[in-house]
Amino acid sequence: MLTITTLKQIILAEPKKIVITTHYKPDGDALGSSLAMLLWLRAKGHEVSLIVPSDYPAFLSWMPLQEEAIIYTENKERSDNLIAVADLIFCLDFNGLARTNEMQGVLAQTTGLKIMIDHHLEPENFDDFRHWNTNAAATALLVYDFIVNLIDDRAGITPAIATCIYTGIMTDTGSFRFQSTTAEVHLVVADLITLGAKNAEIHEHIYNSASENKLKFLGFCLLNRLVVLHEYNTAYFAITKEDLTRFNIITGDTEGLVNYALSISGIRLAALLIDRTTQIKLSLRSTGNFPANEICSKYFNGGGHRNAAGGHADLPLEEVVAKFLAVLPLYKSQLTK
Ligand code: 5GP
Ligand code: MN
Repeated sequence: MLTITTLKQIILAEPKKIVITTHYKPDGDALGSSLAMLLWLRAKGHEVSLIVPSDYPAFLSWMPLQEEAIIYTENKERSDNLIAVADLIFCLDFNGLARTNEMQGVLAQTTGLKIMIDHHLEPENFDDFRHWNTNAAATALLVYDFIVNLIDDRAGITPAIATCIYTGIMTDTGSFRFQSTTAEVHLVVADLITLGAKNAEIHEHIYNSASENKLKFLGFCLLNRLVVLHEYNTAYFAITKEDLTRFNIITGDTEGLVNYALSISGIRLAALLIDRTTQIKLSLRSTGNFPANEICSKYFNGGGHRNAAGGHADLPLEEVVAKFLAVLPLYKSQLTK
C-alpha cells in the first residue's frame, strides 16, 4: 500500500499516464467523480483518459468533458493499450473488479498503481491506495475530501470540477434526502456552490430532461406493472423486454422508477426487475434497517448499500420474480415489525 505522502509526490511531481475508470452503467456519482478527477488531474499536467465500461444515462450527457469518456466495449483495443501503459489507474465508485464487466481482465493484469476511491461495502484487494469510507454518502464526497484535505488543493477545484462533484453527491443522496445526508454533506455542498457549482442548473439538467417516452413509460408502469404486497410491506415492478421496446426505453430511462414503489406509505422494500436483453437486472431499495444488499448478495449475484442495492440473474423474468417472491417470507419479520 502507498502512503498518501508518496501518492501526493507521485501526483504532484512529473506528468504521468493516468487512466480513470468506474463501474458498469455509470450513474451520476460514478461519472461525476470520474469527470472531476479527469479535470483535476489534467490541470496538474498529466496525460489522462477516462474509460467507462458501458454507456451511461442521457441525463448525464451535459456534464463537463463527458464527450471524452471512452466507452470500453466500443473501443477495446485503444482502451486496453491505454490501461496497459498507465502509471496510475483511478478506480472510482466501485471496489470489486467484476463491477467493470468486460474490463475486469485487463484491469487485473495491468501493473499500473491502482487508487481506489469508493463507498461500497467489502472491498476486494486489488488496489495500491485506498480512500474508502462506507459512511460517505457518495464517492464524489470522497473525491472532494481527497483533493481538499488529503492533497490540500481546494484552490484546484474549478467551477467545472465543483459541478461534477455536486452532481455525484446530489444523485447519490436522492437530492439530499437520504439518511446519508449529514450536516457535513451540506457543508461540502455549500462549499461547492461557493466554488462555482450552479445548483439550480444542475438540478434542471438531471431532473427536468426526460423524454416524452420516459414519462409515458412511467405512467404505464405505475398503472400496469406495479404490484403491492401489503402482507410483506413490499412493492415491485417487473418490466418485460416488450415494455422497453414499446416505449423506446434507453439507458437511464428506468432510473428512479423503483423509488415510486418505495414512496407508498408503509412500504419497506421496493424492487425493480427489468428484462435487459442479456440478463434480468434487479434494483432494490429499502427503508430503515432493512438490508436490501443482503438479498442482492445472497440471491442475485449483486450487492450494494443497505438501502440501495442491485444484482442480476440469468433466468427468465417470471422465474426471477418467483425467486424474489420466495425470498420475502424469509424476511417477513424484518419487513413487518
Ligand atoms: P441500482 O439499483 O441503482 O442499479 O444500484 C443501486 C446500488 O446497488 C449501486 O449504487 C451499487 O452499489 C449496487 N449495485 C447495483 N448493481 C450491482 C451489482 O450487480 N453488484 C454489486 N455488487 N452491487 C450492485
Ligand atoms: Mn456511488
